[in-house]
Amino acid sequence: MIDFTLAPEHEAIRTKVRDFVENHIKPAVEPFGHRDEMDPEKHRSYVGELIRLRKLAVKEGLWLPHMPKEWGGMGLGSTAMAAVSAEAAKVSIGPFVLNAQAPDEGNQHTLLHWGTPEQKEKYLRPLCEGSTRSCFAMTEPEVAGSDPTLIKTFAYRDGDEWVINGHKWFISGARGAKFALLIARTEEDPDLPQAANSCFIVDLPNPAFRIVRDIHTMSGGHNHCEIMIEDLRVPAENMLGGRGQGHLLGQYRLGPARLAHCMRWIGQAEIALDMMVKRSLERFSHGSLLAEKQGIQWMIADSAMELYQSKLMVLHAAYKLENKLDFISEVSMAKHFVANSLWKITDRAIQVHGALGYSTDTPLANMLTQARWSRFADGADEIHQMRIAQRTIAAYKDFGSTTKATGDLPL
Ligand SMILES: Cc1cc2nc3c(=O)[nH]c(=O)nc-3n(C[C@H](O)[C@H](O)[C@H](O)COP(=O)(O)OP(=O)(O)OC[C@H]3O[C@@H](n4cnc5c(N)ncnc54)[C@H](O)[C@@H]3O)c2cc1C
Repeated sequence: MIDFTLAPEHEAIRTKVRDFVENHIKPAVEPFGHRDEMDPEKHRSYVGELIRLRKLAVKEGLWLPHMPKEWGGMGLGSTAMAAVSAEAAKVSIGPFVLNAQAPDEGNQHTLLHWGTPEQKEKYLRPLCEGSTRSCFAMTEPEVAGSDPTLIKTFAYRDGDEWVINGHKWFISGARGAKFALLIARTEEDPDLPQAANSCFIVDLPNPAFRIVRDIHTMSGGHNHCEIMIEDLRVPAENMLGGRGQGHLLGQYRLGPARLAHCMRWIGQAEIALDMMVKRSLERFSHGSLLAEKQGIQWMIADSAMELYQSKLMVLHAAYKLENKLDFISEVSMAKHFVANSLWKITDRAIQVHGALGYSTDTPLANMLTQARWSRFADGADEIHQMRIAQRTIAAYKDFGSTTKATGDLPL
């Protein structure tokens, strides 16, 4: 029998996270308003509140849900994590309070899997304790981020060090990070184009890893930095994984990290749908409530169906990940589908709110601009479609059926 219920202990954690968000995080951060509009003093108090909330999360046993217990985490698998992340993300700062935010979450997994014991002690331990932050530096302005074989940032060996030169941008969390996982080309002429890159752990701040600017985006400045790398020297022991394994490491990191994004987006999409329904039950026009108009009901129905599909896709991909089954296509499909659903559901919620939805009096406008990047960051829609199509065609060629490419489900 297929059982869609969570284990009782995971259901209890989910409820605890929900209560923690409602009773502690929301009341503490909502009075501060939008981060872009805080003066320095208000921002300092805001950061103070976040630190207090993080300490409280540790005390409540809600810290680092995705990491094993020996690293101070809760040891949750991907399916339980899906439920926890969706709850935590109902307020945008929620994942940070639990130390389960991008890019640290992905970097923690990467270091856990690829790090040497020394690298783990030096970089993973403080990251798990929450005393440091990190960033992941791959994308470059000069070449398509969708194709990491084009990466130009170059590293050459000089004695016991690597010397790195290059240019990166959109490096989330770079300002204030204690280290970066940096992808650079080390191989001139690899057998496979994918084997050209390696990953380095770079101690920060470092004058040779110069932050040029915090790139201003359609949703404001969020510490997505442009970086110039000029004769950066990294000790040889700071290579993460082997030479030429940068692409492999990136792929290993991105599968679970993409799914983790989807889990958080489900929380945001649910907030948008809740708001859409609430507003439609309160607003009266042309003789009836908006909720009674067929045009509005269609928006609600489409959104409900998309959110339901999103949840099923994420749960199934998480199940495959947790059970060490091939999850590549399922994560790609979830990433594409949930990102687009988030965009559509949030847009409809704004439509139902009218001018109020366009204002910054509700979180919807900010949610929409945030939702826009989800369709190309960590794999653009078209790249996922390309990979899904390739795997569907391959399944047909290999097995005479596309069944394996549609979740490999027993139906
Ligand atoms: C908010 C935000 C945070 C980010 N954080 C980080 C970070 O922390 N670290 C980091 O390294 N990067 C980060 N990025 C960069 C992100 O990963 C890249 O934007 C993404 O990989 C796409 O690369 P690109 O922007 O160079 O777009 P391009 O690769 O130039 O692609 C542009 C568009 O071209 C189309 N396209 C590209 N290739 C194909 C193809 N083969 N077939 C069909 N269409 C195609 C797609 O529509 C795509 O959207 C972030 C980006 C954003 C917006």
